[in-house]
Amino acid sequence: MNIPFLSFDEQHNPLREEILSVITRVYDSKWYVLGQQVEAFEAAYSSFSGTAHCVGVANGLDALVLSLRALGIGPGDEVLVPSNTYIATWLAVSHVGATCVPVEPDPFTYNIDSTRIEEAITPRTRAIIPVHLYGQACEMPAIMAVAQRHGLFVIEDNAQAQGATAHGRLAGSFGQANATSFYPGKNLGALGDAGAVTTNDEALAHKLQRLRNYGSMQKYYNEIIGYNSRLDELQAAVLLVKLRYLQQWTQQRQQIAAWYQQQLAGISGLQLPQTAVGSTHVYHLYVIRTAQRDALQQYLAAAGIATLIHYPIPPHLQLAYRSLGYQAGALPIAEELAATCLSLPLWPGMTEEHVGVVAAAIAKFFT
Ligand SMILES: *Cc1c(COP(=O)(O)O)cnc(C)c1O
Repeated sequence: MNIPFLSFDEQHNPLREEILSVITRVYDSKWYVLGQQVEAFEAAYSSFSGTAHCVGVANGLDALVLSLRALGIGPGDEVLVPSNTYIATWLAVSHVGATCVPVEPDPFTYNIDSTRIEEAITPRTRAIIPVHLYGQACEMPAIMAVAQRHGLFVIEDNAQAQGATAHGRLAGSFGQANATSFYPGKNLGALGDAGAVTTNDEALAHKLQRLRNYGSMQKYYNEIIGYNSRLDELQAAVLLVKLRYLQQWTQQRQQIAAWYQQQLAGISGLQLPQTAVGSTHVYHLYVIRTAQRDALQQYLAAAGIATLIHYPIPPHLQLAYRSLGYQAGALPIAEELAATCLSLPLWPGMTEEHVGVVAAAIAKFFT
């Protein structure tokens, strides 16, 4: 049996008629950018997130950039970022002219280690961007407490954890501004690029609405130097349909992860995902770790099982950040995770039988 890393079939096939009909409705409406669909989706997503406001933007990277800009962060400022994250978290800080200051993760949850944040703070630090990596919510109460003590903004990067909670509260509802992505492969995915910022601050929401649209609320009247980063009507209409199924898909992701946990338990040399007390995990990715990662990946590929590595090179060692001057060994936990992590197939609709095939192949590799 060939097992793909990700399949959209089980999510999209039952919704085919429903989605094509909303696409037709937008087509016939002859209104394609910033309209009723975007407004309706923003209302639905802010309600889902437990925040007062949601501002739809073009993608997750822009959601981070515009959040930083809206909070006035720029050249001369330092922003604390996880040392192990998708590059977009770092890029956003660089795009506003601020400096990334990496903080190492907890080696078990892979999320930013809240006990290491304080030592990275300097007089220039303005904000922290916790990333709810792989779908597990960070230790938000601890992070918010540090931020409050030092007068820092918090911008959650919630691209991977829509619906996860930290101590009963939703990821994407803690920070002053919180960015998310609806890239197709995310837990809530559009049929193209899309993103959003959630916030409880009305003035900030208004600023974000201007920033995404040329600095303008009224056509041809430009109040600030803005961007073009708008969510379009087609994507908003599709997201509005898919949002209604997100909870059900999250439950399926959690069930699949539970099958993996059961079937992979007790294999020596293999570290399974761990969820911190107080956090929930929505398994955007199911990431295992082993020192024999490359050999295991090849072995699974030969058995028809597709896996991916999230992420093979941490941001500080990317060519793009060569000018920061980091050498290998500078951030050992992030580097160790990059060298040992492997993401197993997981998608809503994946069956217990699929999981059994993957788990059996992994068990065989280790014997
Ligand atoms: C996907 C992702 C982003 C960027 O989202 P795009 O919509 O692809 O721009 C940012 N941060 C994290 C953690 C992501 O996984």
